[in-house]
Amino acid sequence: MTVINTAPVRTDRLSFYQKFHTTVDVLRLDLIHPVISGNKWFKLQKYLADAVTAGKKGIVTFGGAWSNHIVATAAACHLQGLQSVGIIRGERPATPSHTLKQAAAFGMQFHFISREEYKNSPMTAALNLVSDAQHWYIVPEGGYGPKGMEGAATILDLLQTDNLTHIICAAGTGTMAAGLLAGSRPQHQVVAISVLKNNHGLADAITALSGPQERTRLQVQHEYHAGGYAKYDDALLSFMNDWFRHTGIPSDFVYTGKLFRAVDDMIKTGWFPGNSHLLVIHSGGLQGNRSLPKGTLIFEPVE
Ligand SMILES: *Cc1c(COP(=O)(O)O)cnc(C)c1O
Repeated sequence: MTVINTAPVRTDRLSFYQKFHTTVDVLRLDLIHPVISGNKWFKLQKYLADAVTAGKKGIVTFGGAWSNHIVATAAACHLQGLQSVGIIRGERPATPSHTLKQAAAFGMQFHFISREEYKNSPMTAALNLVSDAQHWYIVPEGGYGPKGMEGAATILDLLQTDNLTHIICAAGTGTMAAGLLAGSRPQHQVVAISVLKNNHGLADAITALSGPQERTRLQVQHEYHAGGYAKYDDALLSFMNDWFRHTGIPSDFVYTGKLFRAVDDMIKTGWFPGNSHLLVIHSGGLQGNRSLPKGTLIFEPVE
């Protein structure tokens, strides 16, 4: 089952960090597909394959109105010939977000549930809302689970990893970080930049998937959330614009902007040992920038 062609993925070397004795390569997963961008395709593929094998008619999953996971699931199901249902957190908005419009265009059906129900009993809600539940395949929020982790591990099949010392990614649920741990080698450190505030259970959530033996190769950074999940400050936005001027690489304010800012700060403050070779995962998610006021960023939002 190959739905997405990963050929456009490349690594960009950021030579200006050589003066800090650090080699930095950015893995451009954002280039694989305009909607199913970045890590979401990798996290979804084992679930999709499983749903197809089990003869299910579609996938039910969960997310907020601006969720990259929701729109990526809708698009991936469409390509795979599966139906999709999104259980969306909160009231149905008066004007649907760009994300929901796009997911609807891929045929996704929505059910809106209260934030409380979403937090406390999303599974029960899903099973009650979908008729003939046995014909549907349920993917947890953000693709968190062993299959999401296994899919994310295949990210590292795209390149030669022998010379790397550190692999760095943004982390929400931690599924991608767990996959990178599972798919990397004993000489690699994995650094997860938490995009949530005070999510101190993140390291445990990651090692629950990768196995506790990987804990020694995992570092979690909690200081780069810029206010919390999907929050931002002026410093983050101006960093993202500067970063684009210097590198030509666009980023999003929920995940990769925080990631690149963390990497930049950690290099400049000497966090990495000399002669480190970093692989920074550009996990996509650029569609989320559409929720920002027009003109905030100097690069165009993707379709
Ligand atoms: C979802 C997402 C992440 C977080 O992935 P997790 O596996 O939930 O930690 C990171 N970057 C982008 C762009 C995302 O859309």
